[in-house]
Amino acid sequence: MIRAVAHVAAMAPYALADVAAPGMRSLAQNESAFPPNPAALAAGRKAAGEAMLYPDPDWTDLRAAIGEIHSVAPDGILIGAGSMELIGGLMRGFSGPGDAVLGSAHGYLFAATACQQAGASYRTAPEQNFTVSVDNLLAAVTPDIRIVFVCNPGNPTGTSIPNAEIVRLRESLPENVLLIVDQAYGEFDGQDAGPIFELVERGDTVVLRTLSKAYCLAGARAGWGLFPKAIGSEVRKLLNPNNVSIVSQTMAIGAIRNQAHMAQTVNATAAIRERFSARLRAGGYPVPSSRTNFILIPFPTAEAARRADDALRKAGYLLRGLAGYGLPHCLRATIAEGEVMDDVADILIAFKELPHG
Ligand SMILES: *Cc1c(COP(=O)(O)O)cnc(C)c1O
Repeated sequence: MIRAVAHVAAMAPYALADVAAPGMRSLAQNESAFPPNPAALAAGRKAAGEAMLYPDPDWTDLRAAIGEIHSVAPDGILIGAGSMELIGGLMRGFSGPGDAVLGSAHGYLFAATACQQAGASYRTAPEQNFTVSVDNLLAAVTPDIRIVFVCNPGNPTGTSIPNAEIVRLRESLPENVLLIVDQAYGEFDGQDAGPIFELVERGDTVVLRTLSKAYCLAGARAGWGLFPKAIGSEVRKLLNPNNVSIVSQTMAIGAIRNQAHMAQTVNATAAIRERFSARLRAGGYPVPSSRTNFILIPFPTAEAARRADDALRKAGYLLRGLAGYGLPHCLRATIAEGEVMDDVADILIAFKELPHG
C-alpha cells in the first residue's frame, strides 16, 4: 500500500461549487457576468501564437502595470496562477505542523484547505451579523497562531469592514503573526486601497488581489499580492517557475491597463446587485449589504434553503450552498445579467410566499 503523508491523507478534497449541468446557469462561482475587455482578448489571441515559448518567469510587464495603477513598488508584487496559488504558498511557507492559522467564522474556505495542505490547523473566530469582528479575532489569538487570514470584503457574506478596522487588527496583533488581507473583491468595495497597501511596509502583512472578479478573467488564472520583500522571497520558492501562462499574463496586462472597463464592470454589477437585493428585502429576505459581485441570501432554516435551492435548480439556476461555510441556512448568488437576476428574484419571492417558505 502506497500511502500519502499523514496530513494529506487526513484531508478532504477541496469542495468547489457544483459544476452546472448542461443547460443550467451557474451563479455559484462569483464569475463576472461580463466578458473581458476587447483589447485584452485581442492581445491574448496574439500571445497564443507565441505559446511555443515559456512565459516571462518574473511577470515583469504585468507587475509594472499593477505597480503603476496602484502606486506600489513592482518589486513587492508576486503573481500567482490565481491568488489561490499565493494563499497556498503563504500557508506552506509560514505555517506547518504544530502551528495554527486563524480565520473568520464565515471566511473563505480555501484558506482552511491551504492550511491543511501545510499540515497546520485552522481555527475561526465568530462573526457578528455576517461581518468580520476584529475584537473576536483578537480574542482568539493564542501563542500557536502564526497567521491571521481576513477576507475584506468577505466571501461568502459580501460584507465589508472599514479599512480602519483592518489597520486596528494589524496594530493589535503580535508582530510575529503574519496578517493576510485577501481583497479579491477590493475593486467592488469602494474603499481607498492605499491604507491597506501601506500596511505591507511594516514587514508583517500581505495583501492579495485577483484578476478573476472585477477584471472578468477567472479562466485566465492570474492573481497578485503585495508582499514585504522577506516574505515574498520565501513564497516565491514555493511557486512553480513559469506559473502564469503567456496568454494569461498578456490578458492580465490588457485588463489592468483598461481601468475604465473594470470600473464599468463594477458599476454595472453593483447596479444589478442593488436592485436584486432590494427586491429580495422587500420580499422578506434579510439580505446583508454586499460590497462584492454576489449576495448572501439567508433563509429561516437550512431545510428552507435546501428547498429553495431545489426550486432554483429546477428553473435552471445553480447557486452556492453554504453548509461548508457554517451557513447551512443560506445560499450565495453571483450577480449575473439583470434579466437573470430578475428571474431569480421572482422565483425566490414566490418561494417565500409559499406556506412552507
Ligand atoms: C475568488 C476569490 C479568490 C481568488 O481566486 P483566484 O485564484 O484568484 O481566482 C480569492 N479569495 C477569495 C475570497 C475569492 O472569493
